[in-house]
Amino acid sequence: MRRFGVHVSIAGGFPKALERAHALGCTTFQIFSHSPRSWQLSGIPEEEARKFRSEREKLGLDPVFIHACYLLNLSSENTDLREKSVWMLEEEMKRADIIGADYVIVHSGRAATDGEDDSGANILFMEAVKSVLGTGAKNKKENKKKKKFRAGLLLENTAAAPAPNHPPESIKMLARMALETGAAGICFDTCHGFASGYDITASDGMQFLARQTQGVEVRLIHMNDSRGRLGSGLDRHEHLGKGGIGLDGLRNFLGFGPPFRDVPLIMETPKKKEEDDPMNMRTARELLSGKKTHSET
Ligand SMILES: [Zn+2]
Ligand SMILES: [Zn+2]
Repeated sequence: MRRFGVHVSIAGGFPKALERAHALGCTTFQIFSHSPRSWQLSGIPEEEARKFRSEREKLGLDPVFIHACYLLNLSSENTDLREKSVWMLEEEMKRADIIGADYVIVHSGRAATDGEDDSGANILFMEAVKSVLGTGAKNKKENKKKKKFRAGLLLENTAAAPAPNHPPESIKMLARMALETGAAGICFDTCHGFASGYDITASDGMQFLARQTQGVEVRLIHMNDSRGRLGSGLDRHEHLGKGGIGLDGLRNFLGFGPPFRDVPLIMETPKKKEEDDPMNMRTARELLSGKKTHSET
């Protein structure tokens, strides 16, 4: 069966995240490597990293994803913030290598939105990513030889609204940026995609989306429902089946073939109640097994 799971907390140490993920029935999961709203970092004790790696192996949790800190803005025009963001993303990559996580996910910031006036931001973003990955050399072979990190970097789409009267293009831009920077691929967030104008609830919408990912690997799907409507530009995640995408919309998305087939799914759905994660895990399992799910309202 396709691998799926949720974002879990590392409170109490990295090995605790494994326990949480396993208890929920996850086969893959995502974490923050530190408080996502702080520039402060503390080291990861070798013993803790070793325990994480061996326990993870035992539990068969794979792949493991780290979501980069929310404060990053790799396309900021503020040089200080941009440099700090490059430093932080490098730290996230190092931390991934220390605990043996497979991928780090970073939002494209203000970049990869539609409209020409963002090309400057896109260039800043790509320069920053290349500097983190050490892929700035003109010769692509040279870049591969000097691979700085074992973990791969994934670029995630944002919820930016499409330009008025214009079909969405942010995924095309994201794919291009991943290819040009030497990132390992992209992470497609269903809530962000829907909010940025991609109608994943319709089969022609999926075909349109798939065409824009050409040439790039989709390595992760953030499977979230969306509180906002199609093209709303709102980054408001909702429980599976309870937002604008809905169960039928999610079924349409999951039923679509390459490049999305078999890609691991992680939910970043609201966690207000103890019951929330188990409920979304249940819905995901039902959606994946093709069983009839019913939306509880
Ligand atoms: Zn996401
Ligand atoms: Zn989001």
